Amino acid sequence: MEPAPPTSPAEDAAGPTRFPCGACGSALTFQPGKSVLECGHCGHQQALDVSDPHLAAEHDFEAALAAKPRASAAEVYGTAQQYHCETCGASSSTDKKSDHCPFCGAPVVLQDAPNEAFPPETVLPFHVDKRSAVEAFSAWVQGLWFAPNELQQNAKSDRVDGVYIPYWTYDADTFTRYSGSYGIDRVVTDTDTDDEGNTTTTTRVETDWYPKSGTVSVAFDDVVVCASKSLPHELIDELEPWGLEDLRPFDPAFLSGFLTERKAIDLRDGYALAQEKMDPGIHAAICHDLGGDRQRVDSKSVAYSDIKFKHFLCPVWVSSFRYNDKVYRFAVNGRTGELSGERPYSAAKIAAAVLTGLAILGSVVYILSQQ
Ligand SMILES: [Zn+2]
Ligand SMILES: [Zn+2]
Repeated sequence: MEPAPPTSPAEDAAGPTRFPCGACGSALTFQPGKSVLECGHCGHQQALDVSDPHLAAEHDFEAALAAKPRASAAEVYGTAQQYHCETCGASSSTDKKSDHCPFCGAPVVLQDAPNEAFPPETVLPFHVDKRSAVEAFSAWVQGLWFAPNELQQNAKSDRVDGVYIPYWTYDADTFTRYSGSYGIDRVVTDTDTDDEGNTTTTTRVETDWYPKSGTVSVAFDDVVVCASKSLPHELIDELEPWGLEDLRPFDPAFLSGFLTERKAIDLRDGYALAQEKMDPGIHAAICHDLGGDRQRVDSKSVAYSDIKFKHFLCPVWVSSFRYNDKVYRFAVNGRTGELSGERPYSAAKIAAAVLTGLAILGSVVYILSQQ
């Protein structure tokens, strides 16, 4: 299934996978958006086979859990692995799947841990390069409405890291029994006569509720769940969609020059998060089935079947900036350039906006009162 990489990496028994430059022997790194590995030392390029999109094999969830009921922490989180840097000879350790040597900065790609549960089979290689990620960040800061002026003037992120983040996806067929009620609105007109004989008419909406129970079937395909805990999921979920049709067979060469996290959320916990993501879809189907003008769902029980999963890596440029002693993080989708970030709000700018709003409201009230 895995084609032999044309770069033929040299592998030691336990050491890192190496991608030596054919011209000078230095370490090659993957270049986003290009099908090449490039030498940072002499500029020599070597082709990388990125030809065919790859429909990742989907695995049966129940069978996988039966085989590995609960992966050990070491299998899921990975343990720090010792390695010798091929470039400077220093010994280091890392809990990542790929990293940089802390002494010389050379890329290091580690092999799968011997007992790693579900190593990635596919990867979305970086497409957006670092410069574009930094540009996306400054454009984003300039466009921030309530951001402080000083931040807009010195929009600079300290450090931008290209990180492959582990992901799960889940497919499932769901069959749900529910009970609830639907409401039909009607307009009621009230007429009131006061002591002096003046009549006023008011209308209001009343809803009549009717109980109903039934069943709905909803099939889900590729519900994506981030398997990392290093960034808040609200931040990283904003980066979707990932474009899973562009998944490539896993090749360690794509990781060279980037950080690669090991998963921090196992198959079972990822599935629970996927169910949370499926829930609004099931709820919407029930509401549709209930009909009427309004719907109330009192109870539901969902049966999941034919659950499939796959595991892959997504490319993200990650950075943070500091403002007023607080750290704000941001992330850029390494495929699409989509950015998601936490942001400071300027108290002064918000106060100014509120005052402007009040001033406009004040003049409207004044003009109306003059008419
Ligand atoms: Zn070279
Ligand atoms: Zn080194």
